[in-house]
Amino acid sequence: MIRENVQKLLAELPPGVLLVAAAKGRTPQEILEAIEAGVQIIGENYVQEAERAFSVIGRRAQWHMIGHLQRNKAKKAVEIFDMIETLDSVKLAAELEKHCARLKRVMPVLIEINSGREPQKSGVFPEDAEALIREVSQFPHLKVLGLMTMGPRFGNPEDARPYFQETKRLFDRLKALNIPNVEMKYLSMGMSNTYTIALEEGANIVRIGTKIFGERLEE
Ligand SMILES: *Cc1c(COP(=O)(O)O)cnc(C)c1O
Repeated sequence: MIRENVQKLLAELPPGVLLVAAAKGRTPQEILEAIEAGVQIIGENYVQEAERAFSVIGRRAQWHMIGHLQRNKAKKAVEIFDMIETLDSVKLAAELEKHCARLKRVMPVLIEINSGREPQKSGVFPEDAEALIREVSQFPHLKVLGLMTMGPRFGNPEDARPYFQETKRLFDRLKALNIPNVEMKYLSMGMSNTYTIALEEGANIVRIGTKIFGERLEE
């Protein structure tokens, strides 16, 4: 099933759109099946889980951090991930900078936008994104490449559209600022039930779990 799901998705996505297979709760075997079917990027929510999968799969795929990253996991994270999609504070940026400098590597990052302005959720509020990006742009070993958002969860996927629209407007506005050391290139929005809407609203990275791997038993 995983193979068919991936092939169908890849055939359906417009050119230039990156598919991230959201792999939380999946076994390395399932992830490998997705890779063999053509998935090139694996999204992980937890550093520990990523470590386990990475030890089996290694660089046969690229690895994106798509969950909230705790500062005490930054060291391990920079060893595994090719992109951190969820940067949302200067403190976390400083920690990532330190470890990337040590490894002499530049880490691509997306700024996570809390487009629903939900207090308990991670991400910066849209109005705080510019200030954060200006600070992160000062770190020589981090490279801001765009924005990521989850948006609130709804029963009806169509309800997510305004949050994707707002994030796209923000993306365009930030891009027009031409901030040095910032390249507004990627907009990561949309999951299994919302990715078609996200694509209509300008996403060029979609993060898909269920539609590839099937229903999760637990969150
Ligand atoms: C789980 C997850 C996804 C994918 O969700 P599905 O509904 O299974 O497609 C996308 N992004 C993030 C950040 C996730 O945690």
